[in-house]
Amino acid sequence: MSADDNSTRTNFIRNIIDEDLAAGRNGGRVATRFPPEPNGYLHIGHAKSICLNFGIAQDYNGTCNLRFDDTNPHKENVEFVEAIQRDVHWLGYDWGDRLYYASDYFEQLYELACELIRRGKAYVCDLSPEQIRDYRGTLTRPGKDSPYRDRSVDENLDLFARMRAGEFEDGARILRARIDMASPNMNMRDPAIYRIRRGAVHHQTGEAWCIYPMYDFTHCISDSIEGITHSLCTLEFEDHRPLYDWFLDTLEMECHPRQIEFSRLELQYTVTSKRRLTELVEEGHVEDWDDPRMPTIAGLRRRGYTPASIRDFCERIGVTKSENNVEMGVLENCVREDLNRTAPRRMAVLHPLKVVIENYPEGEVEELEAPNHPQDETMGTRRLPFTRELYIEQDDFREQAPRKFKRLVSGGEVRLRNAYVIRCERVIKDSRGEIVELRCSYDPDTLSKNPEGRKVKGVIHWVSAAHAVEAELRLYDRLFNHPSPAAARDGADYRAHLNPDSLLTLTHCRLESSLANAQPGEHFQFERQGYFCVDPDHSHDRPVFNRTVTLRDSWARIEQQQKEAS
Ligand code: ATP
Ligand code: MG
Repeated sequence: MSADDNSTRTNFIRNIIDEDLAAGRNGGRVATRFPPEPNGYLHIGHAKSICLNFGIAQDYNGTCNLRFDDTNPHKENVEFVEAIQRDVHWLGYDWGDRLYYASDYFEQLYELACELIRRGKAYVCDLSPEQIRDYRGTLTRPGKDSPYRDRSVDENLDLFARMRAGEFEDGARILRARIDMASPNMNMRDPAIYRIRRGAVHHQTGEAWCIYPMYDFTHCISDSIEGITHSLCTLEFEDHRPLYDWFLDTLEMECHPRQIEFSRLELQYTVTSKRRLTELVEEGHVEDWDDPRMPTIAGLRRRGYTPASIRDFCERIGVTKSENNVEMGVLENCVREDLNRTAPRRMAVLHPLKVVIENYPEGEVEELEAPNHPQDETMGTRRLPFTRELYIEQDDFREQAPRKFKRLVSGGEVRLRNAYVIRCERVIKDSRGEIVELRCSYDPDTLSKNPEGRKVKGVIHWVSAAHAVEAELRLYDRLFNHPSPAAARDGADYRAHLNPDSLLTLTHCRLESSLANAQPGEHFQFERQGYFCVDPDHSHDRPVFNRTVTLRDSWARIEQQQKEAS
């Protein structure tokens, strides 16, 4: 199958693959990989790469490997390895039996490094890290050859074997590629291939190794061993491509994948760098990696984002080589559109105000039927208990209000959603003059129909006081109050732009009774309030709901429904 079966998916990388297939390259095979380093949780930027790599494999009937790029034992751990697998699966992708670790290849990598030495293309260098930096030169000044550059093959092989055997201190020696210290491309100035990390315990290989291969060497060889055809990576690796090709050419590797670079996703009002995300967690600016304000996949999931909405987002932002700085609103719209279709409607009162319907019999409970979705009948209905005592939203009542206030005012009428029209007869206040209760009457003839001769403009949500579920609702705002917190030109650290109001917790909300059995991860639209998702943490004494996103045009929609009813 070719990619143009679905024209919206076309991008420059798919065009290159089409050309390669047309030219009969790689025996018609398409093989990609997603290569995370397990030094943190995946974020929305990784989702772009996951959707690209796995999406191409799906559409070209190819394969996509999940490969942990685990060459730095100090920063990696099993928690991250597991979280990454969970998140890729959750996004809807499967690597089947193609789960690999770069550390699986340590022995082969060591052998290939020896082969480079034998070919006179690598040497053990005893310069200190500072000297190496100094010898490397700058963009405008060529580097200088290391005094150890012309060691004999035998001496190099011996020293490298002794590096492996643990004879030397960290930093005492490195193995370097022997390329060109005068190259205009700094990456080609005899880059490091192996460094010593004694005493490190690797999450996969334990203490078997005390030397570790560098990323540039490991990555191209891992790709080649796995028979990858197209190695897709972000633009910062463009300058590394000559090195990628040099290793494979110099070693005459049978499989030589084609590296193609695309631009990183940058999402506004957040940061997408694992280093900064790690700092946010470790310094306690957020609860954890899955804090619903984090741009991590785990955070987005807990916030209530769906896999489909994230895949849709990745589709919409596209894949190019030009800057990919995306507004948060684009991501929010994707989840809104998805949940608008799929989330059952419910009523929830965030700031409760008690209403007593004086002409409604005490103790009576009427079961009103309400659709779960206004446009989708297949989603069925639920029962809403209607009683003498209700809660409405404090904001939906004003003693005196301008004409355009369509909700409840003293002496005015309003429709209770899915129920009756009520009139506010009296306002009860406490000694400080705060409104504590409304005394109302209801018109029994107005269930799902308009009262004769009277026009009731407003519709508000409500819950039965006796039946309501008490819950905690968490309303989130952007984690930062600057669109590019890490690149702000005010010289301030990105932390200076943290939004102090990114979380608002409401502890005494009242939800309609059908939400008593809502399950962790379930999504709902609370009418007029937004989309919410049940928090997976069971340790709370009451249900907790995270607001995924607000409703756009919530008023426009209610007014539209009102128009249709009259
Ligand atoms: P970070 O800068 O956040 O630490 P990274 O590139 O070091 O990211 P890796 O675990 O190496 O993180 O990334 C795995 C893959 O995901 C790489 O191929 C990388 O190019 C890609 N990737 C990482 N961040 C983004 C992003 N913001 N947009 C698109 N792809 C990304
Ligand atoms: Mg990386």
